[in-house]
Amino acid sequence: MTNVYDNILGLIGNTPLVKLNHVTKDIPATVYAKLESYNPGHSTKDRIALHIIENAEKKGLIKPDSVIVETTSGNTGFSIAMVCIVKGYKCILAVSDKTKAEKIAYLKALGATVYVCPASVPADDPRSYYEVAKRIASETPNSVYINQYFNELNIDAHYQTTGPELWNQTDGKITHVFACTGTGGTLSGTAKYLKEQNPDIKVVGVDADGSILKTYHETGKINKTEIHPYQIEGLGKNLIPGALLFDKIDEYVRVNDEMSAYRTREIALKEAIMGGYTTGAVTQALIQYANSHEFKSDDLVVLIFPDHGSRYITKVYSDKWMEEQGFINNCFHNYDEIFKT
Ligand code: PMP
Repeated sequence: MTNVYDNILGLIGNTPLVKLNHVTKDIPATVYAKLESYNPGHSTKDRIALHIIENAEKKGLIKPDSVIVETTSGNTGFSIAMVCIVKGYKCILAVSDKTKAEKIAYLKALGATVYVCPASVPADDPRSYYEVAKRIASETPNSVYINQYFNELNIDAHYQTTGPELWNQTDGKITHVFACTGTGGTLSGTAKYLKEQNPDIKVVGVDADGSILKTYHETGKINKTEIHPYQIEGLGKNLIPGALLFDKIDEYVRVNDEMSAYRTREIALKEAIMGGYTTGAVTQALIQYANSHEFKSDDLVVLIFPDHGSRYITKVYSDKWMEEQGFINNCFHNYDEIFKT
């Protein structure tokens, strides 16, 4: 029997690469998107949820009744909730209040208990989702705190799966990899593996306007004046994650809400790929990078598309939301032509 699985977790990983034929056509390289939405939980986070929970099982840290606790902007929560159902654990999640109501409903539909915490407070404030998750984990017997921002297994999940997949899918011809960094796990683990195969592969991290990661990579310093609220979920940080291997990243590109939103919509319209907001962010980063770097025709670029657009229907895919942000009309002179509905 082929393509038959014991449970939904068997579908995690081995996601496809799809060539971008229109949005990046001005760049001479071949550009592929790795569609992490093909994981059963519809994002790259399935890989880390499975890896971290199975590691805890192997170490005997969790028993059938155990509670798995995490902070999450959504995707990691869906993945942990999914793994918990199949494996019979309880799932408690602390999320930021930037998270859309439909994401919270989705988490609850997967059986998770959800605590909504303010995004606007510093990471060390007792109301922040980091502190709330830590407190729940310390107060709940038999609990495991996934701690994706500071868990080396987050990196290891991608070192063991995403990196080898990209190397094999491209027959070792990959020359550049671009990924959005939130925890940093995706890019760090992927880059660590790929650079072991070929140290010349260029690794480009994507940061958000309003986040400190790019400046930290360049100067080793946190510039608190750069921190401001922004709309892209899952990208950038106001703290330095331990799961981010800065030395594996050659360069950082910073993108803003507006251009990333436009790019997300453009990818849907021109490539028929419904990606999440960071799909637009990583593509915008490549386009900005190409303004100051030469590409050759035999370069093979991979953009990691972390999740599916169905989670952003009332956000970046909503014309009303785009108008509320002031993006429509301000962004592109031919916006009406591109986004005619
Ligand atoms: N995009 C989205 C939509 C995400 O949820 C995340 C995870 N926070 C990322 C990108 C970044 O992935 P990582 O945490 O592995 O850096």
